[in-house]
Amino acid sequence: MSNSTGSSQYVATIESVSTCPVKCEMCPVSRTDVAQPNSQLMSLETAAVVAARLKNEFGVGFVSWGNWGEPLVHPQMTELSRVFAEAGLDNQFLSSSLSAKFDVEAFVKSNISHLDISISGMTAGVYNVGHKHGKWDLIQRNMEEISEMRARFPGRLQVDIRWHRYKHNEFQLEAARAWAAELGFTFKPYYAHLGGVDALHDYEHGKLEQSKLNFVRENVFLEFVEGLIAQHRGETSCPMNKNLIIHPDGRLLHCCALMASHQSGVDFLTKSRAEIVQFKDGGNPYCGECLAKGWAGFTHASKTEADLPQAPAPPPALPYSRPTPGSGIVKNQI
Ligand code: SF4
Ligand code: SF4
Repeated sequence: MSNSTGSSQYVATIESVSTCPVKCEMCPVSRTDVAQPNSQLMSLETAAVVAARLKNEFGVGFVSWGNWGEPLVHPQMTELSRVFAEAGLDNQFLSSSLSAKFDVEAFVKSNISHLDISISGMTAGVYNVGHKHGKWDLIQRNMEEISEMRARFPGRLQVDIRWHRYKHNEFQLEAARAWAAELGFTFKPYYAHLGGVDALHDYEHGKLEQSKLNFVRENVFLEFVEGLIAQHRGETSCPMNKNLIIHPDGRLLHCCALMASHQSGVDFLTKSRAEIVQFKDGGNPYCGECLAKGWAGFTHASKTEADLPQAPAPPPALPYSRPTPGSGIVKNQI
C-alpha cells in the first residue's frame, strides 16, 4: 500500500494497473471473499487528463504510483511517468515488489524519482511465506540490474528497500541491511501489519479467513500492531481526504487502505472539482469504526522501530549468506 499524507496539500496515488502477481498472504488482492477490481491498464490518454487535472485544479506536486497493483506490470509505465512529468508532476514515487519483467535501463532513466521496493526475505523459502507468489530470483536480478544501471547512468533516482519485519524473517534482517548497502539502496525496515482496513475489520470481528488468521498469529508482531492501534483510538479525522486515489479507468477512490472503495468510486475525469472535494471530504461506511478503533491513525502512522517505545526485541541474528540468484544454493540457512 502506498503512502498518504497529513498535510493540507493534495497528493495523489495512481494505480496504473489494477492487478498484482505477488498476491501476498495479507494483501486484499489475495482474498477470495473480498470483491476484486477488474484487471485494467491506465491508458496514456487517461493519464494525460488525470495529470492535468491533478496539477491545475488540485495543485498536486507529489504522485505515488501503485496502491494494490504492481505498476511495473504496465508495459508503458515509463511513458505514463513522462506524461505526468510533462504536466508538471515531476516528484514521482513508485512502490513495487519488483516481481515483474521490465526495461530496467529505461526505468532508471525515466521520470520516476523514487523507487520503494517491498521485500520480506532473503531466500525464496522465507520471502514466499508473506510475498506468496513473488519470484525471488527475478527480484534479485532486477535489484542488481537497477544498482548497475544507477551506477552507469547516475541520475536522481533514489531507491529504498522497505523490509517487512515478521517473526519468521527476523533472522535475515541484518543480511538484508548489508545487501541494501552493497546495492547503494536505503534500508527501511518496518513492522508489517495486517494489510489494510478490510483485514483489520475482519480480524476484529473474527471474520478473517483461517489461513490468514494463522499467518497473523504466527508471523505478525501483534503486540506492536495492537499497541500502535491503541495509541490512535478515538480519533476524529483522517488525512485520506487529501489523497486523490485514481484507478486505471479514471475513477477516484475514497480510501487507499480499503478494497471496498473500488466499488464506490466516482469518475475523476468528468466530475467537477467541487463534487470531487465533497466526495473526498465525505466518509465511507467504514470510517466511523475505523476512526473509533484507531485503524485510520495506525494506517497513516510510521511503523519503524524508532517510533515505537515498546518495539519487541528481535531474536538474536543467525549466520546467513545470500545465495547467488538462480543457484538454488542457500548457505547457512536455518
Ligand atoms: S506486492 Fe503489494 S500489491 Fe502486490 S500482493 Fe503484495 S501487498 Fe498486495
Ligand atoms: S477513516 Fe479509515 S476507512 Fe475512512 S478513509 Fe480513513 S483509513 Fe479509510
